[in-house]
Amino acid sequence: MAYDQHGRAIDYLRISVTDRCNLRCLYCMPEEGVAWKPRKAMLTLEEICRLVRIASGEGFSRIRLTGGEPLVRLGIADLVRDIVRVAGIESVAMTTNGILLPKMAKTLKDAGLKRVNISLDTLDPAQFAHVTRWGDINDVFAGIEAALAVGFDPVKINTVVVRSLNQDLLSFARLSLDRPLHVRFIEYMPVGDSCGGEGLGWSESDTIPNEEIIGIINERARAAGLGDLVPCNSTTRGPDGWGPARYYHFDGAQGSVGFISALSRHFCSECNRLRLTAEGQLRPCLFSDDEYDMRHALRSHDDDAVRDMLRLALSAKPEEHHHKVGTKRLMSQIGG
Ligand code: SAM
Ligand code: SF4
Repeated sequence: MAYDQHGRAIDYLRISVTDRCNLRCLYCMPEEGVAWKPRKAMLTLEEICRLVRIASGEGFSRIRLTGGEPLVRLGIADLVRDIVRVAGIESVAMTTNGILLPKMAKTLKDAGLKRVNISLDTLDPAQFAHVTRWGDINDVFAGIEAALAVGFDPVKINTVVVRSLNQDLLSFARLSLDRPLHVRFIEYMPVGDSCGGEGLGWSESDTIPNEEIIGIINERARAAGLGDLVPCNSTTRGPDGWGPARYYHFDGAQGSVGFISALSRHFCSECNRLRLTAEGQLRPCLFSDDEYDMRHALRSHDDDAVRDMLRLALSAKPEEHHHKVGTKRLMSQIGG
């Protein structure tokens, strides 16, 4: 197990495999004008796998592939297969918009992918098309079905809650009732300078604190005869999580409802991760623009240089992000 200078065990690496995406969510990516990184600036699949091998030697055991949209990266299933085979890697997960899952879920499962998080911010087709700029919500629904059908476990639904979208939160929470779906409400984080300008211009006032979300859901759930959400405990466990979500469930539900509050109740003391951008920049903290040039280290063909860079990034993890928000990178470039 690797530890940072604040005594936190860090064993989780989130890897953005591409900055490209087949959607353009308003809060994540501008519709046009993104300066796509040239192909040679991106880490190759071999470089990513080599880094994972070295990181596993340093105590990293959990890998999440994200993006941009990881499923648009050519060879993604091969990458999953190669990472799964690395000694010391216990589990490989993916965060995806789900659109390509109907085509790819079986191949990914066969390659060894275990866990998927599918992002879905609204259940309303017109609002989905608006938020993603052109997406068809039926593709995501089909992606969720495919994920359940091939047996990914857990299947989580990530829902970023934005005040001005006025999402139907109870309908989301209801998805957890009859099937093993784990719905997680995530506070909107105003990161990525150019999105603030070119997206909706959402700001911190668009973040709804999780406590408020729980209140809204419980009020509506009571009115609908469902009763309140109750915290999961050792017998009614939420999914085996890698992160800071707090899980609740409705009485008798197969799934759970989780809350991730990066802003209102930040969880820096439990932080267990480093992030790698698609260009190979290692970020000790989501909210800080400090980056460590892993691509340069990898391309020096010296494993010791890679190891040193990893240790340097670990030792630079800040104790807290002090609620600083807004970074020069878009979320799609960091990987969420
Ligand atoms: N394309 C994939 C997807 O949408 O799941 C993976 C990349 S996306 C950047 C990862 C996650 O970050 C998604 O769940 C997305 O909703 C979330 N995200 C993006 N921008 C965000 C923001 N400003 N605040 C909170 N979450 C955000
Ligand atoms: Fe693409 Fe995911 Fe960002 Fe939406 S949130 S634009 S699907 S990377």
